[in-house]
Parts: sequence; structure tokens; C-alpha cells
Amino acid sequence: MKPDAPLNRPPRAEFLRKFFDFSKLPVAYDWKVEPSRRVYVMRNLRMDEIGAIGFDMDYTLAIYHKREIEELAFELSLQKLVEDWKYPEEVLRVRYNPDAVIRGLVIDRRHGNFLKMDQFHVVTQVLHGKRPLEGADRRELYHNRKIRLGQERYFSVDTLFGLPEGSLYQEMVEFADANPQVLQPDYERLYDDIRGALDKVHRDNSLKSTILRDPARYIYIDPALPATLEKFLKGGKKLFVLTNSEWHYTDAVMSFMLDGRLDYMPRWTDYFDVIGVEASKPSFFLTEAPLAPVPEAGPGGVRTFRKGSVALFEELLGTRSDRILFIGDHIYGDILRSKKHGNWRTVMIVEELEHEIAADESARQLVRELERLQRRIDRHDFKRNLLQMKLSMLEQVFENGAGAEVALELKFQRSCLVRLEETIGAMHSRLASLEAELERRYNATWGPLFRAASEISRFGHQVQDYACLYTGRVSNFLAYPFNKNFQSPRERMPHDL
Ligand code: IMP
Ligand code: MG
Repeated sequence: MKPDAPLNRPPRAEFLRKFFDFSKLPVAYDWKVEPSRRVYVMRNLRMDEIGAIGFDMDYTLAIYHKREIEELAFELSLQKLVEDWKYPEEVLRVRYNPDAVIRGLVIDRRHGNFLKMDQFHVVTQVLHGKRPLEGADRRELYHNRKIRLGQERYFSVDTLFGLPEGSLYQEMVEFADANPQVLQPDYERLYDDIRGALDKVHRDNSLKSTILRDPARYIYIDPALPATLEKFLKGGKKLFVLTNSEWHYTDAVMSFMLDGRLDYMPRWTDYFDVIGVEASKPSFFLTEAPLAPVPEAGPGGVRTFRKGSVALFEELLGTRSDRILFIGDHIYGDILRSKKHGNWRTVMIVEELEHEIAADESARQLVRELERLQRRIDRHDFKRNLLQMKLSMLEQVFENGAGAEVALELKFQRSCLVRLEETIGAMHSRLASLEAELERRYNATWGPLFRAASEISRFGHQVQDYACLYTGRVSNFLAYPFNKNFQSPRERMPHDL
């Protein structure tokens, strides 16, 4: 394999003059960047050792207006269920709920349930359709046995494309439970039909053609994206796109976002050395598919391909695998496989981070109150333990034939214990209501993305496990020097001060 080849850009004088004008490079120290716009580090990464940076497109370079695109996917799939799957027209009255689902949830197709799990795969919250599932049913299904997520029965919500799908499944489970004579509550079939409808909406171009008819409605123009890509280029990085989308959609979306934004790079393709479409990630990282040409892309200087594999791509880039940084939003498609099988370094785009950090900030007062209350509960628990020990000893003395004085003391201490337990009970109710309020600040149904009860959530753990860096959007890199040494904070054990 060749060492890093030089950039294959035209050496036009104007291009070079503007390209190497370093006077306006915006950089900042980490602590000066707003928390919601920071790049967070899980594994040390020296940007000066990176030769090529690759980008996924959908939900990575292209940021969608959440509400609009999710509602569109929901509505189109609902129509498909009626038209192609012959669902009764009554189902058309269900509505998309933006808070229905968050990433990292697991869907149990057999029972029509949604599970939130912590990093140890302990289920911390369950909805059947839209209703919380508690008590014996929940214990029997998810607590008395180990959950094997590899089974067909489970489906993991990994991408933002999965959110409208989850919302539609919730609505259909709810609808079928309430109207079994109209729609049979066969949860597995309902799920498979919805999966089929969503898949069709993506494949038959109905979603994409609607987006492209009015791109401004669905695609956010990030004002800082061109400068961010330009900065990477100034740092001598080769840039590439690697998307599962087809050329016609990629070209249209990228043109909308980048064409004409920098006068010396008029076409979006001017930013990139290699463009890979229909990449079929994650198999791209696992199989040996040959690269195929994209005649529609025209004869331009940028190398554009369909399909292909990680080895062929590395050869094209002329960059060693550990010098490639890939930025994507899909934990399996973009991050896990590229890291495990491609040996690429990874950045995960977690679009929700901005909202999560805003919620953290708005909840600071509440968290302080919760912590104070928890400390009071701990102190009262300790008092209760002491009192229980005292009572147990008094009872033994009493049983061994002590007199009226001990009986009186026993009675008094028992009444103290009752009062103490009432106080602790009241504090626990207050704690539960504060915790519920805190959870609602993040997502009305599921609480925070990165936490499940008092643990890191399954989603948070996946990010920790597989991403070297994570951040809310690509343009957050603009605030950092292009050769930054991203250092992870020192890991701590519970006993570390
Ligand atoms: P990427 O994130 O740029 O790799 O692109 C994701 C592509 O996958 C987009 O073209 C989506 O339309 C497509 N996609 C997402 N979900 C589905 C699905 O369920 N079936 C088929 N294509 C999908
Ligand atoms: Mg993507």
C-alpha cells in the first residue's frame, strides 16, 4: 500500500492563495467551547497522526430537522400500511409522537414492548405500546431471566431513522390492543409489517423524493460546515464520503449543503478526494465487494464509487488503516464495524447531545436538591439501622424475662422506629417525584439518553465502548486546532478520590 499520497487538487494560484490563508483560523481552548459544542474523548487521539477523514452522510454531514423528517417517515409508512399491507383505514388516525422513542431502546417484537436498559443490560423501564409495564408481568419477562439481545425477538433502535419506526409500532400496538376486532394484536406481525413499510419508504424513493422537493424544510444548513471541512483540508487531511445513500440523493443533499459556500470550492465534490455511495455499511467493513463506477457522477476529478470494501478504500486513499478517522452516527454501521474490522479511529455523532447537555444545565438546581435529599435519606437510613439494632437487643433482653422498665423502653423505641420510617417514606416519595421531574427534562417518556436509573444506559455504554471521540455535530471540530491531541480524562474507580 502506498504511503499517504498528495492531495489530488488542481494547483490553481487563486485556489492556493485562499486555501492557505491561515489568518482567520478560529480555534479555542476546550474550556472556552460551550459544553454542548465540545468534542468529548473516550480514547486518546492525535489528529496530527490522522491522514484521512471519512464522513457518513445522513445524520452526520447532513443534519435533518428532526420533527419534519420523522413525521414524514411516519406518515408515509402509515399510508403504505394501508395501501400495500391492507391495514384498515381507521389506523390513519394515529399520530406521530416525537418523544415516543430514543436511541438505545430495545423492542421486544414478541410482546409489543419497549425496553430501556442500563450498561449491564438490566431493564430499567418498560412500555407495552404506550403504557408502562410494571409488576409481576415485567418481572417474569425481563427480570427473572437473562435477555439475549441476539435473538430475533429483539430489535435495537440504533439510528435516528429508527425513531419514527418505533413511534409507529407504539401506536399500532396501542391501536390493536384497543381495537382487536379491527386490527389483530399479533405484535410480531405488526412489527414486521411496520419494518417492511419503513424499508419500502426508504427504498422506493418516496421519502427521499419528498425531501428533495423541499430540502430547506428537511435539511438544516450548518453555517460552519464548509469552514470545518476546509480546516481539515488545510491540516493536510484527505477527506472522503462513505454513505449508504445512492448517488442521486447524495449529490442532491450535498449540493444543497455545500455548493457555492466557498468561492474557490464551488462544487461539494471539491472538498473530497474519494466519494463512496451505496456502501452497504456495515458489510462494507466485513466483505470484499468490488468497487463499481458511478457513471452519473460524470468525468470530474473526484473518484466516485459504489459498493467496495474497506481494503479497497484504504488502497484508494493510500492511507494506513490506523491513520483513518471515520465520523458517523450509526453505532453498528459506522462505528463498531469500522473500528473492530477496519481498525479505523472513530468519531460518533450524537445529535441528541446538545439537547441532553441543555437538559443537564437546566436541571442543575434540581440535581443539587436530589443530592441533598439523598444525603438526608442516607443519614436517616443509618439512624434506622442503629435503632433496629437497639430494638433487637432490647427484644432479646425482654424475652429473657426483663421487667416493666425494659417493656416501656421497648414500646418507646418501637414508636420512634415507626416515626422514623414515616419520615423516610415521605423522603422517598419526594425523591421519586424529583427524579420523575428530572427525567422529564430529557425526554417525556424515557428520560435521559445516556443514563438508565442510576447507571450509564446501554446506549451510553456503546458510545463509551466503540467511539474514540463523540460530539453533537461535525462542525464542532471547527473550534479545535486541526492537529489537536485529544486526550481522554483519566478513568476513575469508585475508590479514587
Ligand atoms: P448513511 O447514514 O449516509 O450511510 O445513509 C443511510 C441510508 O440508509 C439512507 O439512504 C437511508 O435512506 C437508508 N436507510 C435507512 N433506513 C433504511 C431502511 O430501513 N431500509 C432501507 N434503507 C434505509
Ligand atoms: Mg448516517
